[in-house]
Amino acid sequence: MEFELSEEHRMLKDLVARFVRDELMPLEKSVLEREASGQGAIITEEEKKVLDDKSRELGLWGLDAPADVGGSDLPVLAMIGVEEEISRTVTPYVLPPDSPNLRMLMATVNEEQRQRYLAPYANGKAISAIGISEPGAGADPAAMTTRAVREGDEWVINGRKIWVSRAAEADFTILMAVTDREQGATRGGISAFLIDKGTPGFNVVRRIPMIGGAFTYEIALEDCRVPASALLGKQGQGFAPMQIRLSTRRVQMASWCIGLSQRALDMICDYAPQRRTFGTPLSERQAIQWWVADAATRIHACRLMTYDAAWKIDQKRDVRSEISMIKVFGTEMAWEIIDHAMQTFGAMGMTKELPLQLMASQVRNMRIYDGPSEVHRWVVARSLLRR
Ligand SMILES: Cc1cc2nc3c(=O)[nH]c(=O)nc-3n(C[C@H](O)[C@H](O)[C@H](O)COP(=O)(O)OP(=O)(O)OC[C@H]3O[C@@H](n4cnc5c(N)ncnc54)[C@H](O)[C@@H]3O)c2cc1C
Repeated sequence: MEFELSEEHRMLKDLVARFVRDELMPLEKSVLEREASGQGAIITEEEKKVLDDKSRELGLWGLDAPADVGGSDLPVLAMIGVEEEISRTVTPYVLPPDSPNLRMLMATVNEEQRQRYLAPYANGKAISAIGISEPGAGADPAAMTTRAVREGDEWVINGRKIWVSRAAEADFTILMAVTDREQGATRGGISAFLIDKGTPGFNVVRRIPMIGGAFTYEIALEDCRVPASALLGKQGQGFAPMQIRLSTRRVQMASWCIGLSQRALDMICDYAPQRRTFGTPLSERQAIQWWVADAATRIHACRLMTYDAAWKIDQKRDVRSEISMIKVFGTEMAWEIIDHAMQTFGAMGMTKELPLQLMASQVRNMRIYDGPSEVHRWVVARSLLRR
């Protein structure tokens, strides 16, 4: 039994750690200032270009993309270390391509879609969004009502999506819609479609500022006509690949929570010995020592659980429960550890000059998207109680 990343995957993790230290960390101050002034936690186009050039030069693009579209075909396990390192800073940067939609495309595209969507996506030439949530269907996506009706060689889509990240910027959006009202989501009623940016009837109606310096969008689908070839995967079989996509994000999120928690713990360990109150360094207070010990213990546990889930995914095993466990464990762990770091820093921890408040808000979002914690606990309990 191995509890560590292989030498090759550890070297990759170290390389990403250096990229974060040398390229992303220096931008953090500007990102915090932009977020504090209401612009969101963003980097500029120029900054992004420099980061893109550097990360591509380091060979950090297409890490888990298929080799035949220029990727390195790395397993999920290798990506845990990558995601852990990239999340240690609040400078928002995604090593192209973002894994969730990549995995969904890999499971569904036909040859034409492979060339038109998967290849440019894998090569960092296209960005994508996913439209699942609706005003009346979030935690329970099977309750969605957006409809796609076949008319000749076209699909006509009507409905509303909300909370969709990157919807206005994405070159294409993977949109989930009901194609057979009689069938439930898992029995063949929901399909996925590829909608190109600028398609008439795909109307971004609202940009919604979220906590954590993020933005999402509301989309009105009004007689949005797409060709038959826009169907992604088999008609009525959209739910299973959508779950692949959601699971990929959940594992990624657990990895991000490890990185965020480690950063918060490192900040406590650097600061507590220096700060004296009542004549004694904070590091000599039992309250702080217990936060440090508990944080280290939980980070260790989360890392092992996440390696375990990733390894099982690579072995093609059913990991629904494990994924729900790490999504809840990771996000709640990070939330508490960051909160303890904010408490340790006192008033300084309440400022927008330190990254802690932004880290906390990002984790707070994570406790909602890709399934709220309560739903994931329910998934774990249901599988045990059914036995
Ligand atoms: C920052 C951010 C980015 C997002 N990006 C996207 C995106 O790109 N694409 C997209 O499609 N969606 C996106 N979402 C939407 C997200 O996936 C949904 O918000 C989420 O699934 C919850 O749905 P809801 O908000 O409708 O909450 P609801 O479904 O109304 O649930 C509200 C609350 O009810 C409780 N609850 C619900 N079901 C149960 C249950 N079975 N048992 C116990 N309690 C329960 C939970 O506490 C839950 O938080 C994003 C959300 C956020 C916050």
